[in-house]
Amino acid sequence: MKQIPYWLDTAPPLPDRSGRELPESADVVVIGGGLTGLSTAYHTARKGARVVLVEKDKVGSGASGRNGSMCTQGITIGVAEARKRYGQQRARELYDAFREAVDVVEELTHKEQIDCDFNRSGRLGVAYKPQHFEAMKATRRDLAENFDHHTTLLTKSDLRGELGSDYYHGALLDPLSAGLHVGKYVHGLAEAAERAGAQIHERNAATGLTRLPGGGFLVETLHGTILAQQVMAATDAYTDKAMPWFRKRLINVGSFIVVTEPLGEERAREVIPNARLVVDSKNIGHYIRLTPDHRLAFGGRARFAPSNPASDLKSGDVLKREMAEIFPQLADVRIDYVWGGSVGFSWDRVPHAGETGGLYYSMGYCGHGVQMATYMGRAVADMMDGNPEANPLRGLGFPKVPVPFYNGTAWFLPFGGAYYKAKDRLR
Ligand SMILES: Cc1cc2nc3c(=O)[nH]c(=O)nc-3n(C[C@H](O)[C@H](O)[C@H](O)COP(=O)(O)OP(=O)(O)OC[C@H]3O[C@@H](n4cnc5c(N)ncnc54)[C@H](O)[C@@H]3O)c2cc1C
Repeated sequence: MKQIPYWLDTAPPLPDRSGRELPESADVVVIGGGLTGLSTAYHTARKGARVVLVEKDKVGSGASGRNGSMCTQGITIGVAEARKRYGQQRARELYDAFREAVDVVEELTHKEQIDCDFNRSGRLGVAYKPQHFEAMKATRRDLAENFDHHTTLLTKSDLRGELGSDYYHGALLDPLSAGLHVGKYVHGLAEAAERAGAQIHERNAATGLTRLPGGGFLVETLHGTILAQQVMAATDAYTDKAMPWFRKRLINVGSFIVVTEPLGEERAREVIPNARLVVDSKNIGHYIRLTPDHRLAFGGRARFAPSNPASDLKSGDVLKREMAEIFPQLADVRIDYVWGGSVGFSWDRVPHAGETGGLYYSMGYCGHGVQMATYMGRAVADMMDGNPEANPLRGLGFPKVPVPFYNGTAWFLPFGGAYYKAKDRLR
């Protein structure tokens, strides 16, 4: 069994972008080489800026290369909560931004010819409890009437045509969500950013930032300093002590994935006949999909623990058990991959982007970062270009985690996790 992300293992080999000499200055320095950073670098470079991206490890080594590879529709907090918090008009604007984000990924893959298996396969939100299915009926109506988004309700018996499992009580099918191969996508976006003129420096962490009186920043890195007119923090859940302001605002939640051996096309189609992306309605839920080579990828917050090799293995055992509960026909399949990563959550469960002390940022995508990171990279490029209105998340603030002395270590997560797991057990 390999303990590396399937997506990175099956993408073309990455070039080595380490050991490059840092220039003395740049218009824009981007810190972090995930989808947010790469998209920001791409879009700012296309505007003609001299762009340098520094990445602590390798491009895609954070959450961007380790996720479920799903570009799903829908706002992180759900439409009812969004309306309650922000009013219908703002909720609609935010919803539209999440929807447009998937379009932006699709456009970018076409424009830059990124061969990454982008496919609008649709998303099945599956109901774990009968009352979740009742709530889906109201959501379907709300989405159609107030958000111009048309979804289809599937009863438990309808669902049999979409999922080889009797575990769920029905589903809401969204036709617009898309799957892709995120390893290939990250590689393609890095290459597109370089073609646009951005420089990428791997294995070079930013270690300090000093704001200069005349404007701009001095960015200290492991391999030298660089003067930057503008700086973008694109480090999300992997933000380290170099930028403590963000660590006080982000909760890093471990999430884990197992990928089976190839099932063969026929058997894979028995599990998910139309290759939908499947997300269940548990509090501590699962995300499930087929890979382009007919394996099943099965993910979830198996344990409330950070990802590391030992923790990933333990989580893999939990996920394998849970997969067999939902798909008993897969109880004996071999697991070929297991890995984990950190998902960046904000306290109010919406992403945040803006500027603090002259430093631009976008993070806290709460598990919706594949499309939103790409989209926000484009928005931040416009913001840096003097257009703050381009920020679809403007005005949302970025609340601190209201736990005394909190500095990014979420010691309280196992307690919250145990509570929600117990709630899930009451079926
Ligand atoms: C297991 C898992 C499953 C997920 N599934 C999905 C999904 O299916 N769909 C979805 O939309 N989202 C999903 N997500 C979330 C999504 O992957 C993230 O929201 C998204 O990738 C965030 O991208 P990013 O570029 O902002 O951050 P990251 O990809 O985490 O990149 C941040 C980078 O910053 C670098 N860095 C940190 N500090 C420094 C420094 N000081 N100097 C230089 N570099 C630094 C890190 O090395 C890292 O590469 C999932 C996440 C995980 C972990």
